[in-house]
Amino acid sequence: MLNLVPNKPLNVSDILLHMRRVHAGQQVVSVGADGTIHHTSYENVTDRVAQLANALKGLGVQVGDCLSTLAWNDQRHLEIYFAVPGLGAICHTVNPRLFSEQLAYILKDANSQWLFVDPMFVPLITPLLGGLPALKGIIVLGGASQLDPAWAALGNGIQWYDYESLLSGHARQFDWPVLDENTPCGCCYTSGTTGDPKGVLYSHRSTVLHSLAIALPDSAGLSATDSALIVVPMFHVNAWGLPYSGAMVGAKMVLPGRFMGDGAMLAKLIAQEQVTLAAGVPTVLQAWVNHQSTPVDNDLRVIVGGAACTESLRAGLEALGCEVRPAWGMTETSPIGTVNRAGTDEHRLSPGQAVFGVELRIIDDQGQPLAHDGEQSGELQIRGPWIVSGYIGKPGAEAFNEDGWFSTGDIARLYPDGYMHITDRAKDLIKSGGEWISSLALEEIASRHQEVTTAAVIAMPHPQWDERPLLLVVVKDPQNVDEQTLLDWFDGKVAKWWKPDAVRFVDALPLTATGKIDKKKLRSLYTESD
Ligand code: ADP
Repeated sequence: MLNLVPNKPLNVSDILLHMRRVHAGQQVVSVGADGTIHHTSYENVTDRVAQLANALKGLGVQVGDCLSTLAWNDQRHLEIYFAVPGLGAICHTVNPRLFSEQLAYILKDANSQWLFVDPMFVPLITPLLGGLPALKGIIVLGGASQLDPAWAALGNGIQWYDYESLLSGHARQFDWPVLDENTPCGCCYTSGTTGDPKGVLYSHRSTVLHSLAIALPDSAGLSATDSALIVVPMFHVNAWGLPYSGAMVGAKMVLPGRFMGDGAMLAKLIAQEQVTLAAGVPTVLQAWVNHQSTPVDNDLRVIVGGAACTESLRAGLEALGCEVRPAWGMTETSPIGTVNRAGTDEHRLSPGQAVFGVELRIIDDQGQPLAHDGEQSGELQIRGPWIVSGYIGKPGAEAFNEDGWFSTGDIARLYPDGYMHITDRAKDLIKSGGEWISSLALEEIASRHQEVTTAAVIAMPHPQWDERPLLLVVVKDPQNVDEQTLLDWFDGKVAKWWKPDAVRFVDALPLTATGKIDKKKLRSLYTESD
């Protein structure tokens, strides 16, 4: 029999067109730099996306060009998310919290030709302009008053525009091209906690399929009745795909601008916009939990990802009446790999089961697959239609094998019922007397102590055992707890030789550009000075 279903390519513009046809009245809520909360409709957003596409075409943007953003989660960034891929160009989101050498490296490596930049990030890029030969122009995300004429003199003829003037006067319709679904549409760099940042490309096909997977009931379970607060930055793995998935299903989208780590603003948005879904990394969600003293009025499910969900965060969110869904993913996996919907006792902190589309396995040191028996642990590998197969400009990177498996660098156990438990990142494991100690497990135990706010465990060099665990903690009140009390806390909870050797009380733990605890920095701070 012949296939009678036409092979229509999957394009990001399909999401845009559907959002206009079916959900034109749905709202986009966006917080401005001064904290003002703006409301608009999908209808207006899709009109402006068309205007932006017309403007970019007028500037000569071609299929395959790379257009970068340095921007917060806001309406203009959402418009760029659709206009740039719709034209066949690549939307490359850059993390403004990176060091300037990393920014320069990433913009150059991605061959960035145009840069959209929030006014507050202009000072980050002006020193770099001389080193970016491919860059044609900069579009400042604001109106004419936000464009400083003095900028025109910087950087070898680079053109400067303000976003609103660029859009104005352009037609509110655009004839979106039908693109080969394997055309790249998005680009993101890993934060480079090891070596140089590495770039990955997402395709139209992978983005549309990933959006469908996110919306599934046991993933984020997104629908047109949701109000989705996107606290995970749009510069970090496409905000976990939520802008595309939310638009696809017609969810109300709530974009907190530069206030992502601001507990008070998050609490205000959750109440005022009747938020039903929020997603973020643990450190950011903890900021909201610390601020919110009374349970939320609405049914709110919270996706916790990017780092392990601890018992204290889970319990804190539950006490506020939230349904908690831990999740796991990486830049290389678009990012959704697993989500924990059920939260049974045994798997309460597990990041869950694979979502439809991806397969997981664990392998031993010789690369042999291990049983999914909940006991053996090994390196986690993943494959599927939105898992990338290489890094930009780095052919043959070891992490990718020919059968499509990507080696994640995470150590995990897989259970017969499909649940996964992450034991550690391979590079964070502690090797003591030839045996492995999981830093993640020790952090989880430490964070259950009532006086502990955050905990990190790193390996200290040791003459006899090679490495021993050192616990670093931020505590609520240093008067209430001492080193011995915290060490005793581990008794009966782990094998004796797993117990940290020492505790350091610190005021704060350094965070990476994506808001996770920066173990590399901790190692350089604490393991060399002793
Ligand atoms: P980076 O942290 O280097 O910026 P990613 O954002 O791609 O890069 O982070 C991916 C990593 O984050 C994973 O390999 C894993 O170590 C960690 N991670 C993500 N989700 C979880 C989770 N639920 N539990 C534990 N670790 C997680």
